[in-house]
Amino acid sequence: MERARGYDPDPMDVPPLFQSPSRPIAMLRWLVTAYMWPQSLLWIGISVLTYQLFTPGLDRFGSLSVDDVAVLWGRNVLLMLVVIGGQHWWLHIRKAQGTEFKYESRWLATNRSSFLFNNQTRDNMFWTLVSGGAIAALYEAIMFRLYAGDAIPQLSSLWAIAAMTFAVFWIESVHFYVNHRLLHVDPLYKWAHALHHRNVNTGPWSGISMHPLEHLLYFSLPFVFLLLPGSPFLITFCGVYLMLSPSPSHSGFDRFKIGEDRDFHGGDYFHNLHHRYFEVNYGMLLLPLDKWFGTFHDGSMEAHEAMKSRRRSTAEAGDTAAVIERNN
Ligand SMILES: [Zn+2]
Ligand SMILES: [Zn+2]
Repeated sequence: MERARGYDPDPMDVPPLFQSPSRPIAMLRWLVTAYMWPQSLLWIGISVLTYQLFTPGLDRFGSLSVDDVAVLWGRNVLLMLVVIGGQHWWLHIRKAQGTEFKYESRWLATNRSSFLFNNQTRDNMFWTLVSGGAIAALYEAIMFRLYAGDAIPQLSSLWAIAAMTFAVFWIESVHFYVNHRLLHVDPLYKWAHALHHRNVNTGPWSGISMHPLEHLLYFSLPFVFLLLPGSPFLITFCGVYLMLSPSPSHSGFDRFKIGEDRDFHGGDYFHNLHHRYFEVNYGMLLLPLDKWFGTFHDGSMEAHEAMKSRRRSTAEAGDTAAVIERNN
């Protein structure tokens, strides 16, 4: 499907620490003003509320029962209906800012047979709430069970938990890159990841609209705390962050407007380019592994030409292999 051109932001750069020359002070400023504020801080804030107010205590997880997983699943569904559904309602139903800052001028598909129920939003909601919400709940319950039985090391200092919360963003940059690269290899792509890539023009519900097999990998982040010292809060934080942060990043809008001439950072142009062109930008911008492994697309014409020539040489290599095979 041809892209209906919309808003194109300026080409992006890697974070200041990874530019040459490296700019550590500018990196600190970038982390506070561009990375943490407002989205990452929002995920931490929502996680604190979710953990304190809507998550059963560890005493409930002395044994692992279906009920406990179901409670966490229900909590996940409600949380996603509010946060992801809220963005969908505001941007795609109420169309509060029209197509301003929208990467594509067309709206989400309402009559396409590649989607379940022929409807992109319903398809995306189904995979997100049913499979995503349940697998996130299952992993959280397993980790709570291990903490309840004192089977794994647990941090007790608030400072250590805060530092580890910040470290989770970096750990996830590696975890996401590795499992996402793997998902682009056949047959995993065909079996699992193609479902997420049905969404070229994305909306908030597309963020974790994934095949259950992809959810099993994607939500496995909290298992790093089998090795590293963690805490039950950090497990809830991993789940909340993984469930909610892809919703603005897939919202389809680069910026969210609040008032006539005020707006703030919304979508993730870096990942939007992955949905457009597939074999670029597998990771996250925070830790630019794509830059180091040669798959970075910054949105510029030069990066676009470089991607096209990579594609041509891969195709030519494929042709040569096919010729050799035919001649043998
Ligand atoms: Zn995506
Ligand atoms: Zn992908």
